[in-house]
Amino acid sequence: MDSMPNQLHILFFPYMAHGHMIPTVDMARLFARRGVKATIVSTPLNSPLFYKTIERDRQLGLDISIHNIKFPSAEAGLPEGCENLSSLTSPDMFPTFLKAIGMLQQPLEKLLEDFHPSCLVADMVFPWATEAANKLGIPRLYFNGTGFFPLCVFDSIKRYEPHKGVDSDFEPFVVPGLPDQIKLTRSQLPTFIREGSENELTKLMDEISESMVQSYGVVMNSFVELEPAYSEHCRMEIKRKTWHVGPLSLCNRDMKDKAERGNLSSRDEHECMRWLAKKNPNSVLYICFGSYFNHPAAQLLEIAMALEASGQNFIWVVRERKQTKLAEKEEWLPEGFEKRMEGKGLIISGWAPQVLILDHEAVGGFMTHCGWNSTLEGVTAGVPMVTWPLGAEQFYNEALITDVLKIGIGVGSQEWSRCEQKLIVRKEDIEKAISQLMVGEEAEETRNRAKVLKEMARRATEEGGSSYSDLTALLEELRALETSKQECAAD
Ligand code: UDP
Repeated sequence: MDSMPNQLHILFFPYMAHGHMIPTVDMARLFARRGVKATIVSTPLNSPLFYKTIERDRQLGLDISIHNIKFPSAEAGLPEGCENLSSLTSPDMFPTFLKAIGMLQQPLEKLLEDFHPSCLVADMVFPWATEAANKLGIPRLYFNGTGFFPLCVFDSIKRYEPHKGVDSDFEPFVVPGLPDQIKLTRSQLPTFIREGSENELTKLMDEISESMVQSYGVVMNSFVELEPAYSEHCRMEIKRKTWHVGPLSLCNRDMKDKAERGNLSSRDEHECMRWLAKKNPNSVLYICFGSYFNHPAAQLLEIAMALEASGQNFIWVVRERKQTKLAEKEEWLPEGFEKRMEGKGLIISGWAPQVLILDHEAVGGFMTHCGWNSTLEGVTAGVPMVTWPLGAEQFYNEALITDVLKIGIGVGSQEWSRCEQKLIVRKEDIEKAISQLMVGEEAEETRNRAKVLKEMARRATEEGGSSYSDLTALLEELRALETSKQECAAD
């Protein structure tokens, strides 16, 4: 497709993990709707996850395309076909996956030389992208897939190391220097921070922080009304230009876009919608723990018992486990559970059309692992949350949901893990959090606060809204930059 004169061409380079690819693809589509030529750099086995959506956008006349590069699975020592974080079958494979990610540097440099785009939006896991782009005079925008709040918490912990001042892993400490009093425990921090000594991951995190500081600026999947004090705090601390462009999930307007987001759903979206249509408003709890985390069978059993005891309607997404196929349901479901729950609960094995489900008026609660996308999707749908963080920066996001926004109730998750939960949360604690969230006066107040945020999120992305205007400002700045480059070249 020939580009229009003076049209911006932006290269989007997402990390090969659903929680990063999904918002980056949404972002590319959003930018394309604002007249940008958008190229998404992907790999052969990741592109089918969003190919259909991009084709639909192209048919509508948007200048958007996918450019595939080879993923160096074999070269790094990964099994053939392992191109996405969700295809790792054991946590031990993670360092090798990161090695493969590092090997994408040269292919990216080649692409930048060939395309010479006006701008590169690259994920945080590619710290070398800043220098690669800078060498060619291309501004690199940094995208970390989370929000300002978790970034501020991360920065404070790194700077002040408050976890070193407590005697035990479960003793709470206050995260210093933040606009609110946020408490965490050492057990809720990533192991690479807890251990304290320099290791491969702390080195990578340092490179990532440095690449953010050296980048042209930061684009954030957030909106200013969600965490105003934290975007301000962050601007002061990191001294980088920042733009809010979210919530990005709102760029999925029609049912097909929502249903196909990130994958082809394992459950027919019409079946989900028909099931939900029979339920009263706010009467269903939706349960999903993101795109890659697997609970052990013992934990699934506790969840099942809590759901039954709570008496609530539910849609429960259980990821297909790689090692033990989900077929062995007797391992994680109480005897006769499915029969007793007929009409009351729907179990989805695999991938669910999450945004479509959350947006349904029957859904009145979301039990979530607090991944940033899920957090924002819950906010955008106006659905209060039962928070159950597991790893990554999810414990920070939980604090935003429960302590700052006050739109959620925690199950009492205590321990950070990469993908293997060790401490089992008991049925009684899960049931208590579900009941508190779904029934009673307190539940009503929490829901009302969530509905207010939903409206703010929508307004932010509409013409004249805060995120809409931030994106306008960013595109204007990039156009001015492009014009001055062209003028310099002509002199
Ligand atoms: N998601 C989905 N269906 C599923 C599981 C996940 O659509 O069955 C989407 C979800 O809507 C979100 C993303 O996958 O956009 C997960 O990102 P998040 O940051 O919440 O968690 P992660 O998977 O990165 O831990």
